[in-house]
Amino acid sequence: MQLHSTLNSCKMHIKYFGLVLAIAILGMGTAVAQNVALPKANKVFSVYAYICLGEDEQPVTTAADIQTEINKANVAFAPIGFSFRVCEVITIPDYYYRDIDEGNKLPELIDLHYKPEVINMYFTDAASGDDGSPLDGFGFMPGDEDVVVLGGNALDPASYSIIHQLGHFFGLYHTFEIEFGPELVSGSNCQVAGDLICDTEADPGTNQRNCNHGQPVADLQGDRYAPPFDNYMSFSECACRFTTEQYQRMYNVYNTARNYLK
Ligand SMILES: [Zn+2]
Repeated sequence: MQLHSTLNSCKMHIKYFGLVLAIAILGMGTAVAQNVALPKANKVFSVYAYICLGEDEQPVTTAADIQTEINKANVAFAPIGFSFRVCEVITIPDYYYRDIDEGNKLPELIDLHYKPEVINMYFTDAASGDDGSPLDGFGFMPGDEDVVVLGGNALDPASYSIIHQLGHFFGLYHTFEIEFGPELVSGSNCQVAGDLICDTEADPGTNQRNCNHGQPVADLQGDRYAPPFDNYMSFSECACRFTTEQYQRMYNVYNTARNYLK
């Protein structure tokens, strides 16, 4: 009798965890929990795509490949009613822009080729940050010019870089951001540390590409990190989702800081 009862209780337990697991998988697979109503902008953003010449003095990408990337972005941003339309593709016939660094060549390029109130996307062989460090690209946060730069691995058709950079463009930090201090696994400081978003799991600063974080490290309270390597704002190659709060932030940024966009 006792055994029977234990088995029953065990069954209930498994059923309960099965349900929890199903919800967790649903959340990962569909990006948004089914019961959360996100605001929808129903907004089509205009994109101007500038293709630079690469090392071989040929355009680094094609209009067709850009459209493929934009199509992926349209799926990723659909939960908040954002979509992106390439209005014009312009080839910049200047080998000088085979690489674009944030501090020098980008301001020059913006002076020459930039359209106000649209999303200006520059495609180049190699992008680099202010300090010269190589990047797959970068997107300006709200308050700056309406610019996204993509280079290097970002041109790989398997890449989700456009989605990642548009995440920055609409105000998201990396899930591994530590500029505001390390986020605790418990989430108790999630509003002021890490990526400033609470429904992305804490990350101690992992910016690696692979999908496995290896040996988990512990935070100051001894809790083991389980970073969200499936999130578009990580650097992982298996990223496939934004969280509800990330969507909400991007919607709010559009509605306030970037509401002038055509
Ligand atoms: Zn980034």
